[in-house]
Amino acid sequence: MSSPTEFFSYKKGILCADGIPLDKIAKTSGTPLYVYSEKSFLKTLKILKKELRSFEPLICFAVKANSNIHILKLLKQNGAGADIVSGGELFRAMKAAIPSEKIIFSGVGKTEEEIKSALKSGKSGVGSFNVESLEELELINRVAQENKKVARIALRFNPDINAKTHPYISTGLKKNKFGMERKQVLKIFSAAQKYKNLKLQGISVHIGSQLLSLGPIQDAFVEVKNLITEIEKMGRKIELVDLGGGVGITYSNEKPPRISQYAKLIQKHFGPLKKKNKNFKLAIEPGRVIAGNSGVLIARVLGQKKHGNKNFLILDAAMNDLIRPALYGSFHAIIPVSQAYLKGPKLKYSIVGPVCESSDCFASDRPMSASLKRGDLVAILSTGAYGFSMASNYNSRPRPPEILVRDGRFRVIRKRENFQDLVRHEAF
Ligand SMILES: *Cc1c(COP(=O)(O)O)cnc(C)c1O
Repeated sequence: MSSPTEFFSYKKGILCADGIPLDKIAKTSGTPLYVYSEKSFLKTLKILKKELRSFEPLICFAVKANSNIHILKLLKQNGAGADIVSGGELFRAMKAAIPSEKIIFSGVGKTEEEIKSALKSGKSGVGSFNVESLEELELINRVAQENKKVARIALRFNPDINAKTHPYISTGLKKNKFGMERKQVLKIFSAAQKYKNLKLQGISVHIGSQLLSLGPIQDAFVEVKNLITEIEKMGRKIELVDLGGGVGITYSNEKPPRISQYAKLIQKHFGPLKKKNKNFKLAIEPGRVIAGNSGVLIARVLGQKKHGNKNFLILDAAMNDLIRPALYGSFHAIIPVSQAYLKGPKLKYSIVGPVCESSDCFASDRPMSASLKRGDLVAILSTGAYGFSMASNYNSRPRPPEILVRDGRFRVIRKRENFQDLVRHEAF
């Protein structure tokens, strides 16, 4: 494998981001570091916009996938809104000047403070609170009343569908904590007039992440459609249908659904639009599919060691910088920045970081050049989503910088943390 991602490929023997050599960026900014491609971020967004144009959908980027404000601004400038799950993400979305009506507040537990600030954001508060329980609905109604606001609501429906993804990122089964059962949704819609400070706009669904087949997505769409029919039969209007995110990406050799196929499926179930569809707004909440293959984590080799016949390649990046392999056992391609190392004899390595946990391991039994040595650079691919946003300071490691490549230049969009940053909130 040379490079599975379109915007990160070798040029003159060096791995580049949109044509900029990654060794040059590493020399300037140090390692470990995240490098993103602006073109890549925009490419998927543009495809989604184009394929779904007849809907004029609200495309709310899932902020948790990559929360950097510069990324949010970039996506906003290209028409995206934000799907948020916390007060912190609301703050970021507002900092990026995303119009409040283009913000969807998801998540299974919202505090009173978070609800209040979401109601007060922008001109008329967030575009939708996606509500996950009756108790939460009543809380939002009360907080809205106290603040003399009307909260726009969608009920998150749990269709009890197996998304066939990693159990930690499956969200649409009854046993998962997310959403409400059909009966509950119907009950709330039938009692809508009870909630004076709520505008019950519609329903949302999100059955999981890294979905690799359209089957479960289609099943969820069918359930949503049936539910809409039932709600409309009760004489209630549906104004918002939020189909969530979850479309998977290629990390090694997965064959995720093509965006055009995904869009066709939406058309099939909720279109053909414009005319028929005037009555409701369609929203989607893509995260990984926009960000995942738009970033890489660059690390320097600290050395090698051998236990019996087991080889370790030790990097200066660790699980605090990228936790996905430790958390989900997920696969990331790891390739040398210098193409020369693709040739010659290979050894099977455990590729590890310096953190004091045995789970601090990016890959096991991974064939890599036997000549890699201290100081050489490697790229951990497909780390634009749930990479930096899940990073921590564990082992008192300052978090890495984030760099954005655009128009043949690179720019730091988040500085490397320093030791002072580590103790900032302890020194008072
Ligand atoms: C995480 C999340 C998303 C984004 O999921 P991806 O798999 O990154 O597309 C969308 N909607 C909700 C409610 C989420 O929690």
